[in-house]
Amino acid sequence: MTRLQALFGGTFDPVHYGHLKPVETLAELVGLTRAILMPNNVPPHRPQPEASAAQRRTMLELAIRDKPLFTVDDRELRRDTPSWTSQTLQEWREEQGPDAPLAFIIGQDSLLTFHTWHRYDTILDHAHLLVCRRPGYPSIMPDPEKQAWLERHLTHDPQDLHTLPAGKIYLAQTPWYAISSTQIREQLARHQSCADLLPEAVQDYIIQQGLYR
Ligand code: ATP
Repeated sequence: MTRLQALFGGTFDPVHYGHLKPVETLAELVGLTRAILMPNNVPPHRPQPEASAAQRRTMLELAIRDKPLFTVDDRELRRDTPSWTSQTLQEWREEQGPDAPLAFIIGQDSLLTFHTWHRYDTILDHAHLLVCRRPGYPSIMPDPEKQAWLERHLTHDPQDLHTLPAGKIYLAQTPWYAISSTQIREQLARHQSCADLLPEAVQDYIIQQGLYR
């Protein structure tokens, strides 16, 4: 049987423990042996990351040095156009074949706005959604129609994520981490330490590169 694989997309400006630790628990909960961190190419009309694509990628590599669960996939950074998650997942599905169990990891905040994503309805055709808890965000969807959509796809059985190739949503009971990249950028701009918010090697790199000043 093919192993479940999961992509975790984000801006990672910078990567922090709120990204890494919930996914480590998620992996234990669902039997995931590989989580692929995928930094995104931010569309020009959106606020641009402060770190360059190369710096965001380097920070991810430093963050996962001693964590064999993770790898980095820079496919979206290698494109010269901003990429949609729906398009990336379609390409990944074509690469992996129709039967491989594939998943996309998001935080609860992203689930609540999922319906605003480009062609969101096609995402579940190609992958499962694995949702990590995030403090400060409601656990129910913003309206009954979206809640009904969630419940249609919901599974409580991690085995479904291995036996079906796509189409399920799993709300993982991961620990809450009240950390955001925004908070880290603001703290660093005030010259405050972020030692408990992100891996030491990432903080050292940020200082060495003079980022987020
Ligand atoms: P920013 O503050 O710049 O908006 P962020 O901290 O939200 O950044 P992103 O790189 O935008 O980080 O997030 C990538 C993914 O990680 C999203 O799916 C988001 O929901 C999830 N995520 C980020 N921080 C947390 C957290 N503390 N707990 C759970 N999920 C998180």
